Amino acid sequence: MPLKTDPELREFLRKLPKTETHLHIEGGLPLELLREVRPSMPEPASWAHDFKYRDFAHFEQELLDWGFAWHTSPEQYHRSAKMQFERHLDLGVRYVECSFASGVAEFGGLNAREIFLAVKEAIPNELEVRIFMGIHHTGCGPEMRPVIEDSLTWEGFAGIDLHGPEDLPLEPWTAEIWAAARLAGKFTKAHAGEFLGPDFVRRVLDEVGVQRIQHGIRAAEDASLIEQLVTQGIALDVCPISNHKLSPGVTLENHPIRELYDAGVKVTVSTDDPISFGNNLLDDYEALHHYRDFSRDELVQLVRNGLDVALVEDELRNVWLAELAEHEN
Ligand SMILES: [Zn+2]
Repeated sequence: MPLKTDPELREFLRKLPKTETHLHIEGGLPLELLREVRPSMPEPASWAHDFKYRDFAHFEQELLDWGFAWHTSPEQYHRSAKMQFERHLDLGVRYVECSFASGVAEFGGLNAREIFLAVKEAIPNELEVRIFMGIHHTGCGPEMRPVIEDSLTWEGFAGIDLHGPEDLPLEPWTAEIWAAARLAGKFTKAHAGEFLGPDFVRRVLDEVGVQRIQHGIRAAEDASLIEQLVTQGIALDVCPISNHKLSPGVTLENHPIRELYDAGVKVTVSTDDPISFGNNLLDDYEALHHYRDFSRDELVQLVRNGLDVALVEDELRNVWLAELAEHEN
């Protein structure tokens, strides 16, 4: 059964000034580019609406295979990012937060700063983009630590995000580096609560001090954690279709974003890894309408949440908010 769709709603969504605050550059690789290096690459089986990954390893293995096949140089990153950003503009996106994986420097032999600069140079004038580096739980060994510390001095570099399998141990350097990043004026995030439960979400908040959570959907299982998120104003960058295809036990029909939203948690909507999930941002918004009964006004509120958390001056934010208000009933 394909994803439900409504052309009129889609057009409404396209016009809203939206944000995308949870996007992996490697996972956003356009299929056309992948086919330049793998001409016989079929449409991924995971693009089917009812597809479910067996586990994170299944997902990661595929993504690494595709991501590393293309992202072999700063120039390839540049082309990939440029095409992704152009597509954002076509969908009415005004603001993007994306990350590249520090693992490409660690395992792929690339220079992390050159990747950052290549992505930065791909940003079109009409789009605001903030670039993060994703670091996995064991990604700060002797070779990577100087690279990560250096990144905190890069001009225009937005911050860091904790990536990768959630069940690997949280190592002691994490809190230290995350604190150093904030001290350097960078923004800090972590992936949590996509696989592990509320305790891990609480740990990245309390021990690592992250300012925003990627996914965080399992926070819905714990009322006191929900209260903490609301009180501290911590937003969750949620990716419904990604969770539908990857998070154990989660489907669009039972997605906890509805409960989190109703409890007053600031949730935003993003795509995560479109090469793996076959989605774009409009698909994710539409899915919330069809499968979790988000009304048009509630979809507008989700867009507003994204504008609220965007790392921009209030002057620009207010321009977008005023534009968004024109689309409300
Ligand atoms: Zn992610």
